Amino acid sequence: MQFTDFALDARLQRAIEASDYTTPTPIQVQTIPTALTGQDIIGTAQTGTGKTAAFVLPILQRLLMTPEKRGRTRALIVTPTRELAEQINTTIRKLAQFTNLRSVTVYGGVGMVPQERALRAGVEIIVACPGRLLDHIERGATLRNIEMLVLDEADRMLDMGFLPSIRRILTHLPRERQTMLFSATFAPELHGLAAQTLRNPTRIDVGIGAPAKTIAHVLYPVPQHLKTSLVLTLLQELDTNSVLVFTRTKHRANRVAQQLERAGYSVAALHSNKSQNQRQLALDGFRSGKVRILVATDIAARGLDIATVSHVINYDIPETADTYVHRIGRTGRAERDGDALTLVTREDAATIRDIERTLKAPIERRTAAGFNYDAPAPVANEFQRAPLSKQRGDQQRSSGRGYGEHRPQERPTSPQRRASGGNAAPTGRRTTSSANR
Ligand code: AMP
Repeated sequence: MQFTDFALDARLQRAIEASDYTTPTPIQVQTIPTALTGQDIIGTAQTGTGKTAAFVLPILQRLLMTPEKRGRTRALIVTPTRELAEQINTTIRKLAQFTNLRSVTVYGGVGMVPQERALRAGVEIIVACPGRLLDHIERGATLRNIEMLVLDEADRMLDMGFLPSIRRILTHLPRERQTMLFSATFAPELHGLAAQTLRNPTRIDVGIGAPAKTIAHVLYPVPQHLKTSLVLTLLQELDTNSVLVFTRTKHRANRVAQQLERAGYSVAALHSNKSQNQRQLALDGFRSGKVRILVATDIAARGLDIATVSHVINYDIPETADTYVHRIGRTGRAERDGDALTLVTREDAATIRDIERTLKAPIERRTAAGFNYDAPAPVANEFQRAPLSKQRGDQQRSSGRGYGEHRPQERPTSPQRRASGGNAAPTGRRTTSSANR
């Protein structure tokens, strides 16, 4: 199927061509024709699948079909984080670039007034986080003209406690509308929300819970106290482009960012204790390539789409298999290659099993050549003082015994790489063209 088969407005077709989208992705093939008919949709889509354009294109098309309604706010997209709101808005701007349709983002942490002014000026599309949207509603913003509603990353909104806010927002919307609900997973609590918000929805499932096949997964067993040293070793040995490092806590994100910075890398930390301005600066720097390594917690990095991320390093294993799928979805996006490296300690065995069950394949365990796995715990600030060579030894650890289920002979989990003759080593050199797409 081609984009031209959707019979979209010529202005949208032009924007698709300008965006270098060649063929529609599976979620786009399934969602766009259905959404264009105005039907409700409940979509299970993994991250990095082209989900945003799958709902944005039908929204833009339907807005363009009735130009006499210009200036009314007719589409509302609700999403859990500010970064996602900005990202969705960027896609809207890109795909609407040859139209006169307008959109605005609405989220907390920045001033109300510019958002209010934009809302009053009559934008066709709002991309909002729930809390700030309610603030605007309380101050008199009206959603009575909304014809299309998207609830994006619904499972995450539930996890973040947004369900009551979403219920309140729904009471301000016309009953007569199209609703599209997207979620990576469908926990039982979501069924209630779906039943309340959707009418006779078409169900669309694209690879439930499974991450993109272009990602190679590797586990690196390592004692907790050597994690930063191992990350530094991996950064030296691997051919990396932009690297996203995940930590379990904000404090650890700051600490790891500092340690990597002291080793000479350009690094930023991204977590919810940072101001909106700092978060934006970190993301802009990372997107532009000025910041090479972003150390983030889960909430801040959810759904980020940065084309140049070649490696995701889980400094700490995520707490659930779902979170693993989300984290590593930051690389290998839209058919690009990516590597997901997870540092694991003895305590992580149960989580590793859950992740392998979700991936439906064992993950390769690997040891870093030349890394001294028997080094003692560094004293405070050692990373600042000791040259890297001092932290590393010649001894190579021969096995990862005791870290999850050690299965060194088992195959890696990236079928595509194996098929193409690759060995799933996270060292595959990327071509400039794929890295820059
Ligand atoms: P998403 O899953 O919406 O976050 O999209 C992931 C990435 O895929 C984004 O960078 C999009 O610009 C890109 N993308 C979306 N649709 C296509 C397509 N049909 N062809 C190529 N890239 C696409």
